[in-house]
Amino acid sequence: MRSSTGVKAATPVVVRKASELQSVVAAWRRTGLVVGLVPTMGALHAGHANLIRAAAAENDRTVVSIFVNPLQFGAGEDFDSYPRPLEADRQLAGVLGASAVYAPTPGEMYPAGAATRVRVSGLSDVLEGVHRPGHFEGVATVVAKLFNACRPDRAYFGQKDAQQAAVVRRLASDLDTGIEIRVCPIVRDADGLALSSRNAYLNTEERQAALSLSRALRSANTAFLAGERDHGELRRLLHDTLRQELFANVDYAELVDPNDFVGPGQLAVLAVRIGRTRLIDNHLLGEPFAAALSG
Ligand code: AMP
Repeated sequence: MRSSTGVKAATPVVVRKASELQSVVAAWRRTGLVVGLVPTMGALHAGHANLIRAAAAENDRTVVSIFVNPLQFGAGEDFDSYPRPLEADRQLAGVLGASAVYAPTPGEMYPAGAATRVRVSGLSDVLEGVHRPGHFEGVATVVAKLFNACRPDRAYFGQKDAQQAAVVRRLASDLDTGIEIRVCPIVRDADGLALSSRNAYLNTEERQAALSLSRALRSANTAFLAGERDHGELRRLLHDTLRQELFANVDYAELVDPNDFVGPGQLAVLAVRIGRTRLIDNHLLGEPFAAALSG
């Protein structure tokens, strides 16, 4: 809770329309308040919580957007089954310091006739972009719209979606948004699994199999810290570790430059399907592996 700039509401107001959010935020800014935005698809977990806490600590008002964006899901992906526990999310966002939850309907976000798409070329055409065609165009379009609806001073994203964070940085700069992009570290469960709303799809056996992602990153990191600099060897370690897990189907496991996501580089990035669930993870080699932060 903050007092000098007014007490934050414990239960954040839910805003459904962009025009309404614009007036709420404009009123804050007229009184000199600094605003942070945390874009999410909801089903909030400790990874999101970390972003919301950071935003609440660094800004006078925090807006959490909750929108399962149809544009960033491909045909046959999990748009329909994606969890949508809005009331629980709203309560949690409030406890973490959010002042407003922006939860537009798909019809409000993309009214009939909407025809504009935002595309960040280059970064959108590799790795995730290859395996999920159109995904980053959907992300960039919704993020640009969220930036316009909220007009925050800062916006918060997770390193968990490293390529997305890079796409957003590029967009924020190229479109002269003036918004400061903050990227927060990956939050992992005690056993190393990176938190994701999609982890809820995993059964017990799959949850075990999902540990192969962080195991692979850790093995490459251990080798790197021991002096291994041969990219072929480090990449082989990623693939060998993942191959040992029978339930894991690898979409990609690469070492890329963290700026343009083209290899070779020091950022290890993985996308692996465990049963019907597709998981991504990454680690910048040489950095200590994140201590478990969940809860
Ligand atoms: P999502 O709801 O999956 O679209 O994620 C919303 C934001 O939370 C994105 O910027 C993600 O990168 C971030 N995020 C999701 N999971 C994690 C995690 N385990 N650690 C850190 N950030 C995360």
